[in-house]
Formats: sequence, C-alpha cells, structure tokens
Amino acid sequence: MRRVVAAAVVAIALAAGCGNPGTAPEPSAGPTSAGPTSAGPTSAGPTSAGPTSAGPASAEPAGGAVVSLTFDDGLRRQEQMARELTERGMAGTFYVHSTRVQADGYLDRAQLTRMARAGHEIGGHTRTHARLPELHPDEQRREVCGDRAGLAALGFTARSFAYPFHAVDAAAEAVVEECGYSSGRGRAGAAAERTAPADPYNLRTPLSVGARTTLAQAQEYVIAAERRKGWAILVFHDYCAGCGPLGVDPELFTGLLDWLRGRAVAVRTVGDVIGGDARPVPPVRAPSIVLNASLENYFGKEGLPDCWQLDGRSAKATFGRVAGARSGRWAGRVEVTGSDPARLRLAIRQDDGACAPTPGGTEAPALSVWYTSTAPVRFAVSTRSGDGVWAGWTTGPEFPATRAWRQATWKPRLPDAAGISFGLVLAAPGQATFDDFALR
Ligand SMILES: [Zn+2]
Repeated sequence: MRRVVAAAVVAIALAAGCGNPGTAPEPSAGPTSAGPTSAGPTSAGPTSAGPTSAGPASAEPAGGAVVSLTFDDGLRRQEQMARELTERGMAGTFYVHSTRVQADGYLDRAQLTRMARAGHEIGGHTRTHARLPELHPDEQRREVCGDRAGLAALGFTARSFAYPFHAVDAAAEAVVEECGYSSGRGRAGAAAERTAPADPYNLRTPLSVGARTTLAQAQEYVIAAERRKGWAILVFHDYCAGCGPLGVDPELFTGLLDWLRGRAVAVRTVGDVIGGDARPVPPVRAPSIVLNASLENYFGKEGLPDCWQLDGRSAKATFGRVAGARSGRWAGRVEVTGSDPARLRLAIRQDDGACAPTPGGTEAPALSVWYTSTAPVRFAVSTRSGDGVWAGWTTGPEFPATRAWRQATWKPRLPDAAGISFGLVLAAPGQATFDDFALR
C-alpha cells in the first residue's frame, strides 16, 4: 500500500509527538481477535477514589474546570506515573495497544490490571500505532475494533480511544464510534476542550508534555482551562530525565501533580468526563480487501505479519521480512531448499473474517501480487463456506521466475465463498519475495 502522507498531518505529528518508541522488539504473542466484552477486571473502576482521595484534586470542580492526565503507547515506565497519581488520589487514562501488552518495554497484563483496579482507565490506541486517515476503512476497523476486541480479551473494557499521531479525519471518527468507543482524543495544539465537547470523537489537547516542556507551560495548559471553565487534556509519553523528546522528567511530573492538588480543578479520567457505560465490542465485520496487503505490520505471533499465517515451515524452509520492498518498508520472502516447496505457504489468516476478506460482487475475484523469484511460483487459495468451514488448498497456474518486480494475477472459480485466503508458493526449490497483495 502506498503511503500518502498529508503534509498537515506530518506537521501535527512533529509538533505534538506521540511517537512509538520504535526500538522495542515485537511481542512474542498477539491477542486473539475477539473476546468477551465484560470479562475480567474492567478499566472502569473507581473513578476518583484512591488511598488519599481527600485532596481538592479529587473533589468536584468548584469552577467547573477539569483536567485529564493521559498517557500514550502503554510504555512500561508509565506504571510509576500511575503510582504517583494513585498516591495523590488521582486517576489517569492510559491509551495502550492490545498487541504490545507483554512486549519488552511495554506494560504487561498484570501491571495494567493493577492500574485498572487502582481506578486508572485503560483505553485503546490501535493495534499498530496506525495513522488512520491514510488507511482504507476496512483496515481502520481492523486497527480500531480489532484492538478494542483484543483489549476486551485481556479483560479491559475500553471506553476511550486516542488517535496515533493525533491524526484524525471524519472517516476515522466514524470508525472509532462504530467500534464502540465513547470518545477519541484527537487534534493537538489546540485551546482547552469544553467539558461538554462539541465533538467527542475529536477531543482537542494541548501539545504533548515532553522533555522541552517547562512546568510553567504545563501549568498554563491547566490555567487556560480554568479560565474558560473547560477541560485540559494533558498528553504524556515516557517517564525519565533526558531519555528523548517525549520523556517527562519525574521532577516536573510530580511537581505538576502536587501543584494540581492545590487547585480548584478536578482530575478525572477521559471516560468519566464523557460519561456513560462501555458499549459492547461490535461483531467482526469481514473486510472486502486484503488487510496488511503490503506486509508492513508485524505484531502477530512468531514475527509474522499481522493477518497472515505460515504453513509448512521446516528446517529447509524459511520466511522473513526483507527491505527493498516494492512499496512501503517491507516485503516478505520465502526460501525453500528441500523438497515439496509448495508446502511452505504464507497466506491470509484463515479466520472468521477478522482478517480473511469476503469477495464482493458476482464476478470471479482477481487475486494478485507483485513478486520476484528464482523459481516459478503459483497461487494457493482456500475458501470458507457460509457455515464457517475452510476448504483444502487449490493451487493455480505457474508464473515464471523473475528478477524484476512482476505482477501475477489469477481469477480462480470460487463457489460462493464467504471468506477467502490466498498466498504465493514456490513451484520448485528457490526463493521468492512478494509484496502488495490484492483482491479485486
Ligand atoms: Zn501514540
């Protein structure tokens, strides 16, 4: 998928931060795509209670002004920030990725559960820190609804969402609402939000509080909200002195919290300011396109691209992502030295529709992919019937070895498929690299 980056969005991201750490390795296991919506501890715990809830910060606002302290990306060091809040009778909103829970450098399930029990809110932030306005709506649903379902499976009923990079448009807002969230934290660098926001799916925030923010600046965000009897939604990332542009010095952070306790302003989670119970996670809606078609996102199990599965891996066959992609950053490469190369098959995950698309229209769908290879290749395809049963694999005609990127297209006859999975296999030992799958 070609990345079309709006200049305005880039400017906002640079100004506001909200990056992912980038250096953290992938998690060893991904979440399941669906789960209970109310099992386990909910993130909607006690809203303002805490061990020291007597301070003015947890009382109802005298002048009506409210502050929400929000934390992005589920970074492990945020557990200490949560602790600082709890010690002062405050609760924060933590926007996490369901796919990164348990990953190195990120909060794990036990930590998040403890935080939720202490009254902190666990919200969603997409599966892969995606820039939603650039994605097809089906891909947005995977990122937002799939992430919320993943959080539910971990025991967190998320009410609140934050757009990665503060990147939001009307289509993304519609998806966030459809996925059952009651708010989306959006545009940064704005004046204080209203406590009854005009658009709860694009909540306005000041710029992220980072390494270059002074205590006076952070206080000014709050004072501005107090002046308008509004809502200051402060954004934090990492917690450390001198660890990068998004790291907040502990001295500044605890200084801000102590200062807040003396103000006539309420500190409340985003979900509690918006109000209302958590809505159910909507049922899975099968995509009409190939998700993660350019093999860019690797947050699934075993280092595989999200929404893809690998069959027939053995000592004589490997799969890996490689640079030199046709588009985006990565392409996928399979290499087979042993016999029966067609057994190694990277294909769309055979599921109930979280990943496997439903071919639309009455015509036979066209499967396509761009590839280079040292041996001939074939498509392998499998379909899911209406009652959810996957058929065995069928392979298509051979396409020749090629050094330059070449597009292979095949229109198989598929009897009334409710879902489809396909991939490319080698017809002889060798190596093949592929990118940009499509279903039309
Ligand atoms: Zn983020």
